[in-house]
Amino acid sequence: MLSELRGLNEECGVFGIWGHENAAQMAYYGLHALQHRGQEAAGICTVHDDHLLIEKGEGLVNDVFHGDRLNKLPGHAAIGHVRYTTDGGRGIENVQPLVFRSTTGSLAIAHNGNVTNASELKRHLERQGSIFQSTSDTEVLAHLIKKNISYPQNERLKKALAQLQGAFAFVLLTEDALYVAQDPNGMRPLSLGCIGGETWVVASETSAFDLIGAETVRSVEPGELVIIDDKGIRSDRFAPKANRAICSMEYIYFSRPDSDIDGINIHMARKRLGKRLAQEVKIDADVVTGVPDSSISAAIGFAEESGIPYEMGLIKNRYVGRTFIQPSQELRERGVKMKLSPVRQVVEGKRVVMVDDSIVRGTTSKKIVKMLRDAGAKEIHVVISAPPLIAPCFYGVDISTDSELIATGRTTEEICELIGADSLQFLSAKGLVEAVGRNDEDPNRGHCLGCFTGNYPTNIFADTKLPHEKELV
Ligand code: SF4
Repeated sequence: MLSELRGLNEECGVFGIWGHENAAQMAYYGLHALQHRGQEAAGICTVHDDHLLIEKGEGLVNDVFHGDRLNKLPGHAAIGHVRYTTDGGRGIENVQPLVFRSTTGSLAIAHNGNVTNASELKRHLERQGSIFQSTSDTEVLAHLIKKNISYPQNERLKKALAQLQGAFAFVLLTEDALYVAQDPNGMRPLSLGCIGGETWVVASETSAFDLIGAETVRSVEPGELVIIDDKGIRSDRFAPKANRAICSMEYIYFSRPDSDIDGINIHMARKRLGKRLAQEVKIDADVVTGVPDSSISAAIGFAEESGIPYEMGLIKNRYVGRTFIQPSQELRERGVKMKLSPVRQVVEGKRVVMVDDSIVRGTTSKKIVKMLRDAGAKEIHVVISAPPLIAPCFYGVDISTDSELIATGRTTEEICELIGADSLQFLSAKGLVEAVGRNDEDPNRGHCLGCFTGNYPTNIFADTKLPHEKELV
């Protein structure tokens, strides 16, 4: 996956577990399986002897939890977080889970997504005397929870969550319970799993379950608050279920191929995207190749459907240092060559179909096309297993502003010329929805297509901040 090179980044991955004697170790393995959702920082919080214990830091999960650091986290319950950090959000104080301690009980929160009315809620809370350390959505939620102190904990949480709009998946840990909440449109993936019928786990992706021997039970429902404690698991609601609008990018690009969302396997969905693309476009070519890693499944599907053989025309160097994961344009551009190499024997003298899953700024695509041409490819036909990205994401995915998106205000022919390909074609939005196979007629199985269409499934406020505009905590 080349997210760090393309300016297309998921914000985070969350994990939670209740009822396991090695909760922190389980969280560590779970976060490992979610590492692709954020490489900048990681943290785990456990509850032990009625206290919340926290260890966190900047870096990969392995970097943060080296030596005996996990041994400092005893306890039977944990939440964990991996994050991608925007420019404004660096520093240890910004790493989640965040712990809020008070005489009425402590609370740890980890979060994936973006609350679109966070600025408005913050202004409202400040007028009532709340003092904020940051502009983070997580802190807004903590203040909202604290405000209704006279209510029981569950009711406080429900009242607080009901005020949030946007896309969010929260895991919250107190001395007594693990709480899990999903926004009313169910935009970010969040699944429940179980180990041995007694230990409950929750994660942004089901790939985290396989590693710890958990079985997937179901997705957390839109508007649902799941409460897990020593009495077991209960489901409550903080908002009526709205039309489901799962982020399409999860199927196209973000999630791991071995994860399932709502019972649909990501690798299989990507293969179908490639097949559908091959039905929508007709190209005479000798070989199909995919940009590793996230486009390989779609390339295999394209090859199967078109009858053009699949070959490994590009390989990824897996051992590039983390220096090259810095989100600056210069390093992004230089990093492409460090990350990818063409296989000359595959592409030399050939008409190549290059399958990719997205074009963001176009700079990476241009470099890959040049790389293939320099390796002797006779023709390069770029096909994208998604529609053109024309609008920003307000829901926690750091897609560039629309002025930086190459497809905004340009025709496909103009983009093709800019990236130097012989031809360029995109999958249609209809093709995307039908190939993923969620049955979009059913309001419980819908997609968000906001960054492809500019039509968003929730209210967007004038002061809704994009991820890179926020000082995230
Ligand atoms: Fe996903 Fe795009 Fe919707 Fe953002 S706007 S949630 S990236 S589909």
